[in-house]
Amino acid sequence: MQRINAEKSALFVELGAEIGSKAVLEAMERVPRELFVPAEVRPLAYQNIPLSIGSGQTISQPYMVARMTELLELKGDEKVLEVGTGSGYQAAILSLLLPRGGVVSVERDETLAATAGVRLEELGYGNVTVETAGPTLGCPDHAPFDAIIVTAACPGLPDTLVGQLAVGGRMVAPVGPRDEQSLILARRTEEGLTVEVQGRCRFVPLLGPEGFGEG
Ligand code: SAH
Repeated sequence: MQRINAEKSALFVELGAEIGSKAVLEAMERVPRELFVPAEVRPLAYQNIPLSIGSGQTISQPYMVARMTELLELKGDEKVLEVGTGSGYQAAILSLLLPRGGVVSVERDETLAATAGVRLEELGYGNVTVETAGPTLGCPDHAPFDAIIVTAACPGLPDTLVGQLAVGGRMVAPVGPRDEQSLILARRTEEGLTVEVQGRCRFVPLLGPEGFGEG
């Protein structure tokens, strides 16, 4: 326990040097990452690395979670879509940043969706709804969203998600081939879409429509 506390302090010193948003760092300090990972990797919870969460999936590196979250520039009252609930960790952080808003998080793997839904409820993240992914990418039933975060690699910027983004909204997504992607920040304006590359990243693939093949 003492060792994990020391590692947690060290991690937040490291993140503080790279991440400008105090609100994002504070939210991340309040979310116990060790409760979102399987017992066998719990001792590694505060290393700045991605970890395996079962079903062949990973919880992102803390730095990447922080960076993607800060790019959303949340004010606190937005309705946010996450594609790829995984463990629910990213959704928990968004939850704390949205005291007057909420999160809809969609997950394709039914087991992960069910586990994350129960975990988030038990830990008291009441403004998060976890949905099992349907035939259409994202969550058309709850659209439009003020912000969208995609936590699985997309071969291209998914048009369906752009269509679910409100005018004035921001979307962050890893876009590119399976082995490495660009972290994309897209903004939907009255005139159309602006797109910026915010660095490189590596995510597990988005599967299904507008994703990679099943194989
Ligand atoms: N954000 C998560 C990590 C996501 S890993 C966390 O904080 O733990 C990527 C997740 O995307 C995986 O769980 C995978 O099952 C899911 N996924 C892949 N394709 C998807 C799709 N089309 N719709 C929803 N989820 C998808």
